[in-house]
Amino acid sequence: MSNNRKLNFSITNILKKVLFIDLIQGLAVTFGYTFTKTMTMRYPDEETWIPYQRFRGLHTLNRNKAGRELCVGCELCAKSCPTQCITVVPMEDKTGKGIADRVAARWEINLLRCMFCGLCEDACPTEALKLGRQYELAGKKMQRQFRSKDELLAPQAIPFDFEGGVIVKARLERDEDGAVVKPDLSSQKRWW
Ligand code: SF4
Ligand code: SF4
Repeated sequence: MSNNRKLNFSITNILKKVLFIDLIQGLAVTFGYTFTKTMTMRYPDEETWIPYQRFRGLHTLNRNKAGRELCVGCELCAKSCPTQCITVVPMEDKTGKGIADRVAARWEINLLRCMFCGLCEDACPTEALKLGRQYELAGKKMQRQFRSKDELLAPQAIPFDFEGGVIVKARLERDEDGAVVKPDLSSQKRWW
């Protein structure tokens, strides 16, 4: 009885191997997933993730509605930074109104030392400094990790009022320093 069962078992195994049953079953599972919803993101050349508003990415310096820089060069951000990666050199602007019209002559951040803790943003009394949602910061050149005032004053691709938490279409572009992912905010879909 026991020998018969062993014989049946081995015949079944041999038939499975000869007829590629396991392989066909595996391929059937794979083929079935071809028609289900895609669960992976085609990052970075076709899609990218836009983080929520509370995300802490690359810093931005901002202007008021009249276009004046909000930063008054008070240096509180630099003083509050635990890794001392912000350099601020204040100056009075050309209006001659003294300290009331101070601006930053130089505002620079060393991203190699930044840990994106957000303490500098919390310390800023004029809401000039915010951490944005740009997170693709790698580059081939060391100099790219130092961002100046003019670079940070330029609007980022993701505006503050954009809620985030979505995948959008993206385009991968290459420049002399590496790759840049450009999101298209008009095309969005929920991740979950
Ligand atoms: S996020 Fe933190 S580490 Fe980075 S510059 Fe601001 S205070 Fe410094
Ligand atoms: S960014 Fe804010 S905290 Fe930093 S120097 Fe300018 S006003 Fe002061």
